[in-house]
Amino acid sequence: MGNTRIILDAGTHPKREGADNLPDLDSLDYDSIDAIIISHAHLDHAGAIPVLVRNQPNAKVFLTEESNELVESLLHNSVNVMTSQRDELDIPEFPLFTHSEINAIQPNWENRALRQEFTFGKNNEVTCEFYPAGHILGSVGVLLKCQDRSVFYTGDVHFEDQTLSKAAEFPTEGIDVLITETTRGAVPRRADYSRKQEIERLAAAIRDTIDRGGSTLIPLFAMGKSQELLLILHELKESGQLNKNIPVYVGGLTTKMTVTHDRFADTAHRHHRGFRFLQGGMDLIVASKKRKKKDRNRSIPYDSGRIYALSSGMMTENTVSHAFARNILPNERNSILFVGYAAADSPGGRLLEARGDKEFQLDEDSSPIAMRCQIERFDFSGHATRDELRDYARKVAASQIILVHGDEPARQWFLETLGADLPDSSINIANPGDVVAF
Ligand SMILES: [Zn+2]
Ligand SMILES: [Zn+2]
Repeated sequence: MGNTRIILDAGTHPKREGADNLPDLDSLDYDSIDAIIISHAHLDHAGAIPVLVRNQPNAKVFLTEESNELVESLLHNSVNVMTSQRDELDIPEFPLFTHSEINAIQPNWENRALRQEFTFGKNNEVTCEFYPAGHILGSVGVLLKCQDRSVFYTGDVHFEDQTLSKAAEFPTEGIDVLITETTRGAVPRRADYSRKQEIERLAAAIRDTIDRGGSTLIPLFAMGKSQELLLILHELKESGQLNKNIPVYVGGLTTKMTVTHDRFADTAHRHHRGFRFLQGGMDLIVASKKRKKKDRNRSIPYDSGRIYALSSGMMTENTVSHAFARNILPNERNSILFVGYAAADSPGGRLLEARGDKEFQLDEDSSPIAMRCQIERFDFSGHATRDELRDYARKVAASQIILVHGDEPARQWFLETLGADLPDSSINIANPGDVVAF
């Protein structure tokens, strides 16, 4: 914008391995960027920061205080994950960055609060303001203004209240260019969906499991989805829909992320303000025992009558949820309940696809496991539905719309639908390397 060069988000691709998961950073000249703005802490938005700033030593990094802390934890965890993948999957370029690199750059990141304008760039010509995005703790949409032109970037957005996160509050006036996520563009939400009913269905599945003497495994992303789910369980216990005495186990990275959520318990843009998960809010049992590396993929025994809320959400190899699944699967009293996204080729996604089969191949190296437990999927997406995003785009009626963060069919739906809704707007599917002038 003007004479200032800005990068919005610098993530890693969740489905690619090695340096392939990075954005095309080679197209950027050395020391050519003035500012990097991070919408939220998920790795597909923040995972490439250490690699990016290596060649952009004078770029300022702006984000919310919450995101700052979450990104730092996730990047350190990412180094650990990449280091073990280097050996196990034979990816010699991993890790793409180191703990000491993170420690060196993180103190320079600049925290910015919601709804407070700040300026940067050549002669401070760019004005920026963060708006709450309702997606996860600390997530924002980004409004940029320069020389009478304005750009709004949605980041990942949810326009409805979640149990923890309050709905997004985005501007609609005076936006010339809208850069919007399109995650759920390919599939409409069922017409009869209600979050309340989905929560009741979840409670019933857990009750049935406990009543028949089984245990429930809920595979969860450590950050965001875990805390949403834990708060749902808390509300269900408070309302009597679940027995207060059912033990809930968390572990690994989830614990660390929950500590951060507790530190920001008084932040304005959330429900249950002041509620702290680990300081009296809930009787969580923290499984802290570190397993040896060689034991990572081994099964872990479970006790009956319990809820195991464990990462990862897609039951990826070498994670706690993956290890638990091995023993949970063969017993018809148990259940595995999915509440988030599971890519089709992940163990979680394959398990959902295999529902009804008698056996399941949890990982390539071991023999199939009998599959007798109940398996259910619930919709607690942290992303806006396509109709909500369409309504928002129509209200904004930007002269230019750029579609990002969705698979091809998702972006295609928005291209066609918004093309018909807003015939005077220019709408682009931005592919890597495309130049869109405005
Ligand atoms: Zn996200
Ligand atoms: Zn995302």
